[in-house]
Amino acid sequence: MANLFKGKDAANQITEENIARARELTEAGHRPTLAVIRVGARPDDVYYEGSIKKNCEKTGIRCLATELPLDVSQAELEQTVQKVSDDPTVDGIFFFSPLPKNLDEKAARAQIRVEKDIDSLTMGSAAKVFAGETDGFAPCTPTAVMEILRRQNIPLKGKNVVVIGRSLVVGKPLAMLLLNEHATVTICHSRTVNLPEITRRADILIAAVGRPKMVGAEFVRPGQTVIDVGINADPDRPGKMCGDVDFAAVEPIVENITPVPGGVGSVTTAVLMKHTLTAAERNLKG
Ligand code: NAP
Repeated sequence: MANLFKGKDAANQITEENIARARELTEAGHRPTLAVIRVGARPDDVYYEGSIKKNCEKTGIRCLATELPLDVSQAELEQTVQKVSDDPTVDGIFFFSPLPKNLDEKAARAQIRVEKDIDSLTMGSAAKVFAGETDGFAPCTPTAVMEILRRQNIPLKGKNVVVIGRSLVVGKPLAMLLLNEHATVTICHSRTVNLPEITRRADILIAAVGRPKMVGAEFVRPGQTVIDVGINADPDRPGKMCGDVDFAAVEPIVENITPVPGGVGSVTTAVLMKHTLTAAERNLKG
């Protein structure tokens, strides 16, 4: 039986550290503040916003939520983002996406100041991640993967890590974070040939694909650590979620594995809080 790397173990540790940092900031006269901008009211977004607000409250971070109507104009949207970004009391900005198709999301995101871009939505932040500069923010999900690996004491230096997925929100930045820790990283994608052969060579296998249960027994071998980033509707259990890894098939073979739900996804909000506090500490220092 594999060791189960539950996200809540890492999330609880991060939250405890966050609470102490938020208290110190507040005692120093700076109330850490996260601004959340949402267009429309998609149920998933509203649900996640609720979870962000709860986490802010628990941590001691002020949360400023702005809701814009679905028919907001591009100019109004950009002005709002710019106004929030220019507010000196705001440390970090979280911006829900995707936006309605008539809006130019890239142009709206570009109004976020890099130092407040705590979920890496701007090209400026991406450039910092890819240049290995540590004064920016990587997206919360790849950072959550790194937090789990670090807090479970999984060594990365010199290890073979295979990442399946090359999106700009997960696969690519994650590969850069792993490289910074001196892992030997292979990035796979939909055109990769002989995928199971490559993944079996990994010490650590990370799936960020968006295909329910794609990673089966033939992709893994004993001794591996498997991190499942996927969040999918479970085709076999209506109303339930599953990962990109076929947990029932893979878990008996490998050494360590994250579950879905209750794995990477449960660490991302704690990382969002952590990034807000880092931005606040930098803001306080000036
Ligand atoms: P995405 O933008 O759709 O990217 C998926 C990647 O998987 C692409 O690079 C794609 O390759 C690759 N891929 C697709 N089919 C493949 C196949 N058969 N074999 C190998 N590679 C394949 O997805 P994403 O935004 O990165 O998200 C990935 C997963 O993570 C999704 O399940 C998403 O829901 C989840 N997610 C979780 C969190 C969290 O907090 N846990 C946060 C964000 C996303 P190509 O580039 O060649 O198309």
